[in-house]
Amino acid sequence: MSESWNKRTQAVHGGIRRSQYNEVSEAIFLTQGFVYENAEQAEARFLECGPDEFIYARYGNPTVSMFEQRIAMLEGAEDAFATASGMAAVNGALTSMLKAGDHIVSAKALFGSCLYIVENILTRFGVDVSFVDGTDLAQWKAAIRPDTKAVFFESMSNPTLEVIDIAAVAKLAHEVGAVVIVDNVFSTPVFSRAIEQGADVVVYSATKHIDGQGRALGGVILGTQDFIRGTVEPYLKHTGGALSPFNAWIMLKGLETMALRVNAQVDTAQIVAEALEGHPALERTLYPGLKTHSQNALVQTQLGGRGGTVLSLDIKGGKKAAFAFLNALRIPIISNNLGDSKSIATHPATTTHQRLIDDQKAELGITPGLIRLSIGLEDAGDLLSDIKQALDASQK
Ligand SMILES: *Cc1c(COP(=O)(O)O)cnc(C)c1O
Repeated sequence: MSESWNKRTQAVHGGIRRSQYNEVSEAIFLTQGFVYENAEQAEARFLECGPDEFIYARYGNPTVSMFEQRIAMLEGAEDAFATASGMAAVNGALTSMLKAGDHIVSAKALFGSCLYIVENILTRFGVDVSFVDGTDLAQWKAAIRPDTKAVFFESMSNPTLEVIDIAAVAKLAHEVGAVVIVDNVFSTPVFSRAIEQGADVVVYSATKHIDGQGRALGGVILGTQDFIRGTVEPYLKHTGGALSPFNAWIMLKGLETMALRVNAQVDTAQIVAEALEGHPALERTLYPGLKTHSQNALVQTQLGGRGGTVLSLDIKGGKKAAFAFLNALRIPIISNNLGDSKSIATHPATTTHQRLIDDQKAELGITPGLIRLSIGLEDAGDLLSDIKQALDASQK
């Protein structure tokens, strides 16, 4: 029955497990372990652990399972493994399936820590990595080899918001049997149809839109039951990347309101982007929902026309103007999360992407004047007038 539910119903009821008390709100099973009724039961559980049986919270926990089942339902995936952070999910998805000598192809526009895993860690263990411009299908085609094991990319890149064609890249990857791993944070689980479009494995930082209220770190890997239980689970349960039951509860409750929050944030982001486009203080307004965005056609087919909760503004006058803009803002806070109910402004060149050398920044479009703006749940009119006064201040 739950398979036929629509997303709004799944988000509230999916994956629920009630204890003997029949509680309304999902219980937090804040326990590291579970008691066996006798020695024989302990032996049997270690031999084979059933779907509603638990051994140790690093392997699984009822609250964590509720979150895994609910997000798997929403994403249309067979199964999910929840992790301590988004990075534990990215690392777990890649490292659990790769070994020395394997070849992968990765988009080069990646979140800083994702780039570190691919560029510094995987290569250290003998994985051969080819980087491509993720928006250029000819580069994917040239880089994918008959022995390529996996392709990896962010469906919408941070912070320049390029959209990668999941279906087209998946088609090329599947011709050689490579696994398609998508970091789908910027697309959000609300608009994602990544699996339907050909992704084999979808990864989220739950810290972003799933919590959506800046409270906790978390992540999740979604895929087939074979991949999650056969490849990911053994790796993560032995290396210790499990999500804590308390954080799982936050994420579980976050899912209940996620679609309402994210849709409201996207509505406001669209209004703000349209109103700011062509503003005299701006070099560029980057927002995938704008008709002028170079990949707006792909946004229509891949994301139902919804451009996401983040926009990037390239302010005239470089770093000095960008800092003046940040310091003049009264509503968006200066921080580095995204997808939060509070609007957040970030200067990628000096914070999240500080580590990159200038050439890399230039190649990725991370200019000194670039500001990433994550749109929250505030009133669109209030936000817009605040951003406009800060843009004026930036040019003084
Ligand atoms: C934030 C983020 C991550 C990392 O998530 P954490 O929860 O901070 O570990 C990975 N990928 C993308 C695209 C992100 O935005």
